[in-house]
Amino acid sequence: MHSLVENQRRYFQEGNTFPLEVRKEILRKLRTVLMKNERFLAEAIYKDFKKSFYLTVENELSLPYGEINLALKKMNRWAAPKRFRTNLVNFPASSWSVPVPYGVTLVIGPWNYPYMLNLVPAISSLAAGNTVILKPSEVAFHSSAALRELINSSFRPELFHVVEGDGPQTTELLKEKFDKIFFTGSTRVGKIVMKAASNNLTPLILELGGKNPAIVLPDANVKRAAQRIMWGKMHNNGQACVSPDHVYVHRDIKGAFLKELKNTAEMIHRNDPLNCTMLPRVINEKNFDRLIHLIDRKKVVFGGNYNKDALFIEPTVLKDVLESDPIMKEEVFGPILPVLEFSDSNVPLKHIQKRPVPLLLYIFTRNTKMAKAITRKVPSGGVMINETVLHFINTNTHFGGLGESGMGSYHGKAGFEGFSHQKMLINKPNWFELFLKYPPYKLGRLSIFRAVIGRSVRFLWWRSDEGTGKE
Ligand code: NAD
Repeated sequence: MHSLVENQRRYFQEGNTFPLEVRKEILRKLRTVLMKNERFLAEAIYKDFKKSFYLTVENELSLPYGEINLALKKMNRWAAPKRFRTNLVNFPASSWSVPVPYGVTLVIGPWNYPYMLNLVPAISSLAAGNTVILKPSEVAFHSSAALRELINSSFRPELFHVVEGDGPQTTELLKEKFDKIFFTGSTRVGKIVMKAASNNLTPLILELGGKNPAIVLPDANVKRAAQRIMWGKMHNNGQACVSPDHVYVHRDIKGAFLKELKNTAEMIHRNDPLNCTMLPRVINEKNFDRLIHLIDRKKVVFGGNYNKDALFIEPTVLKDVLESDPIMKEEVFGPILPVLEFSDSNVPLKHIQKRPVPLLLYIFTRNTKMAKAITRKVPSGGVMINETVLHFINTNTHFGGLGESGMGSYHGKAGFEGFSHQKMLINKPNWFELFLKYPPYKLGRLSIFRAVIGRSVRFLWWRSDEGTGKE
């Protein structure tokens, strides 16, 4: 490990990854490697959780392709230095912010979307000019091995390398000095990674989990709300950090809502959930047993059947769930949807505020003004009004958590910025020297300093859209 990290550092310090054309070439190569090996990747992930070829391309590879295409198109602009105004004390000079790569980066990924969630941050890091060591999860071990085989046979280890390993092996890896760490996974392990990063004061981005609530207010379009929540829950069979974890529904519409949830589930799996192409299986026996114990038989509205040999649980909805029920104590991360009833909309909001900050909050209402007011009031990484999950694939916006659900963000430009240090640069000519800065310091000079500090130089020929927030 040590020599791998040091070789990457040497390669980086030699400037090999700096030219934008080189970075673009790396991304083009990665796109080609992935495209040529879609079948190979699909076969591996099928062994992990029976994900079909269609789903492999749709929800594992389309986002990496989109990220690569966006980076190729926008990289010149993202990497361009941005000019800022110079204040009078620094006159004459020009002031810049220059995005520079950090150096050797470590990307640690989870098992639930084993290609997408490993590749997207790696793409951002490579686009920003870093070298990457990628550590996928050992839980989806066929997919992890497929990534190792593809990446390590296509890229030099000094640039981009996959290492495999479990928790203890990752602990060893984290003893190395990295220049930036990107971690996706549970809040519990996120804390371990953050502690390890603090030994070297390594900056990090944490994309963590949590319980994402959906609230269905009484004025919501009940059918659409049920369709979108159920579809969101069934995506990857609930094994998604963006899954609606549980639903608060207003008492007046609860009956209709539960009926529409059932209609949607049946529309998707056509009464044959075991053979539904949208539903991969539960990842392993440990998670399967954990999920089965969360199903309170007395509260099942529909579903609840399972096949342990196939590691498959039918999409299941529970009603009349209470805040104190076991299912409300942990992230569900599977195909079980607990529904809680309310009559005063302040009550669920208060419950959400008391819990760890969720990654997402889903609000279903026709009253956008009210939804926006809730957005400001209730902490969460992000919000979707009248939809679930799909914000994740909008590469034009950033994605990230808050508090227990993470820190920092990525996707598109935000990913590039997350893997770039914004270096301040002030460039000064020699023809003028501010002799006031040298002693003797007489009190009379203070008034001059007071007058000039904080004033920006605003000559027309220095003004530029860059540095004013516009691009
Ligand atoms: P996890 O935290 O168990 O594992 C994530 C990674 O950490 C894996 O690569 C694993 O090998 C490694 N790891 C495990 N123990 C470690 C240790 N002691 N020290 C260092 N590394 C260790 O998470 P998971 O089960 O793979 O993924 C599920 C969790 O991830 C859920 O909570 C989910 O919500 C979250 N998640 C978040 C996002 C997001 O974008 N915010 C995306 C996907 C998953």
